[in-house]
Amino acid sequence: MSVQVSDVRTALQNNQIVPNFQPIVSLHTGALVGFEVLARWQHPEIGAVLPENFIAIAEAYGLIGDLTDQVSSKAFHCAPDLPAPLFLAVNLSPAQLQDPNVPSHIANLATSASFPMDRVYIEITESALLDDLDSAKAMARRLKDLGCRLALDDFGTGYSSLAHLQALPFDELKIDRSFVSKMTTTRESRKIVAAIVGLGHSLGLITVGEGIETEEQADMLLSLGCELGQGYLYGKPAPAAQIPTMMSTSHIS
Ligand code: C2E
Ligand code: CA
Ligand code: CA
Ligand code: CA
Repeated sequence: MSVQVSDVRTALQNNQIVPNFQPIVSLHTGALVGFEVLARWQHPEIGAVLPENFIAIAEAYGLIGDLTDQVSSKAFHCAPDLPAPLFLAVNLSPAQLQDPNVPSHIANLATSASFPMDRVYIEITESALLDDLDSAKAMARRLKDLGCRLALDDFGTGYSSLAHLQALPFDELKIDRSFVSKMTTTRESRKIVAAIVGLGHSLGLITVGEGIETEEQADMLLSLGCELGQGYLYGKPAPAAQIPTMMSTSHIS
């Protein structure tokens, strides 16, 4: 579909950008540990529109801040009953790393929804670090000071250096789906995943396998020492109304 910037503006004005929630589980026990918040545009005629159709436009036209606000605020409000220690993971766009107001803004949204900041993960893509490491560092520091935890998203695709990893206070590495989906069929992908898990652990980070679709992938990740997993095997992103069902069909450690 071809989306214009005016369509995205209208969607934001009409409050049509909503969060979906995808479970993240412990690979070891299968227990639910949290949800990633993923934006969907609930279009009155088309139905749910995927981010690939509107995030880039929102970024290009300066609307991504409003979009993040709308999605995260709704997510925090949908989840006040989420029992500890379950977390919500919110995505930030690279462009938002340049905006010094973003951390306090997210804190305000969480606080006004009574959602504790120490159960918020902020996901930043690896490629975002390449644009401006100094801004990323300052942003990461402020987010940590406000109590959130930080995840480096899509790891393995962005060519960041070890110096970047060391300079930033990440808590978690998310291994990109492109490696996970090939790891049971190509030895190179398997080796890359093993190296990422090892690197993460040597830096004291938790590792998360993204895009897990088969038991075989989950078993291999677990055997490599990866702690957490996310993917269609455990559940697709779903609307807030399905949180209770997702919670009751999984156990919480
Ligand atoms: P991401 O942050 O890497 O999110 C994971 C994407 O992988 C999601 O796509 C999710 O639906 C998909 N996924 C999860 N498990 C599987 C699986 O087992 N198989 C397959 N084939 N896909 C799986 P989605 O929701 O379409 O989002 C795409 C991207 O859009 C996200 O990638 C993220 O970069 C961006 N995005 C989504 N919501 C937001 C948002 O609120 N703000 C910002 N800035 N970006 C967002
Ligand atoms: Ca993400
Ligand atoms: Ca990702
Ligand atoms: Ca991605």
